[in-house]
Amino acid sequence: MRCYACGNREAQMILDQPAASIATNTPDDHNSSAGKFPCQLFQCLACGHVYEKVTPELRSALADIYTSCAAQLSVSMGEGNWGKERGEKILKHFNRLVDITAFQSALEIGCDKGYILRFLKSQGIQDVTGIEPSLKTAGIADGINFVKAFADRNLNLSRKFDFIYAFDVLDHVEDLEGFMDFIRRHLAPQGQVFISVNNADYYLETGSPALFMHQHIQYFTDASLKLFFERNGFVLKNLVKYQDEYHALAEFQGQSVNVASKRDYSNYENKLSLTLERISALLKIKHGAVHGASNTLKNILEWCDINFDFMLVDNDTSKQGQIYFGKKVLKSENVFSGNFEQIFIVPETFYPVIREDYLSRGFKGNIVGVR
Ligand SMILES: [Zn+2]
Repeated sequence: MRCYACGNREAQMILDQPAASIATNTPDDHNSSAGKFPCQLFQCLACGHVYEKVTPELRSALADIYTSCAAQLSVSMGEGNWGKERGEKILKHFNRLVDITAFQSALEIGCDKGYILRFLKSQGIQDVTGIEPSLKTAGIADGINFVKAFADRNLNLSRKFDFIYAFDVLDHVEDLEGFMDFIRRHLAPQGQVFISVNNADYYLETGSPALFMHQHIQYFTDASLKLFFERNGFVLKNLVKYQDEYHALAEFQGQSVNVASKRDYSNYENKLSLTLERISALLKIKHGAVHGASNTLKNILEWCDINFDFMLVDNDTSKQGQIYFGKKVLKSENVFSGNFEQIFIVPETFYPVIREDYLSRGFKGNIVGVR
């Protein structure tokens, strides 16, 4: 096994939990029946990069997901209450970092239904293209050129773009070199690249069960993301760190450099075990509710060796009424009529907001979270 970022073969295992199924944020009856896959993460001893080893079975199961309607977590950006909220948040962050008026053409890798491309078009960029493997049909729609493909070393669009960007895609890419090769071949001179990835550093440092998901092969930290760009000949112009993700803006420089990340994450498994013990104790309560039908909850349920009963609620209207993890997802209002002693809030980033919402509506029981 070689590190996806630097090619080195020596690595330390930093996560080793029971094998688990793949969660796609879709109801139980939509979920892949591909079986269970190892939940292990490794850190490269040469460059410090953290990654999941992809077996041929996992590779094939993931390819099936990415070309299906389960490719997008929950709903598409701009759709439903959750998709709208996510889309607005992303555009706000995007505008803060990128001066889109500088570009004549833009290419999005992993564009889903083109929510951000439509925004760019509304801002005056006429020449926009999106690549998306899960598209039902390719071609021009609303003046946007949609290409049904994976952005890899085999794809050639035979042209260049001023701006290439990808939201939450790089974590999913197995062939990192092929992905960056695609970008280099399609980026105009003086062009810019924007990439967002999960902030793995936060979850690794805090021992969070939200870190691991089978779809995420690469787990970037401040140091490894900077190193990754530099190895591929790019220089970071700006790196914004949010609790749950990084937004990076880079330019091609041509020279690749190679420096190692010093941070050691060998403690992650121990920290995670302590977190899971604490959560197991919390969830043994008789009359409790859980807020958040997500991959994190799946990890907790599959890794904590306990049997407990709970009511599952979520604010995402697309999940309400559907079955997740054997439970029907209800609206959060049900917590008030049920006289529950405790709510366990799963999402870490939204914990303060969700907690405040329950308190303001008069919830009298305990409110607890992953931390
Ligand atoms: Zn490495």
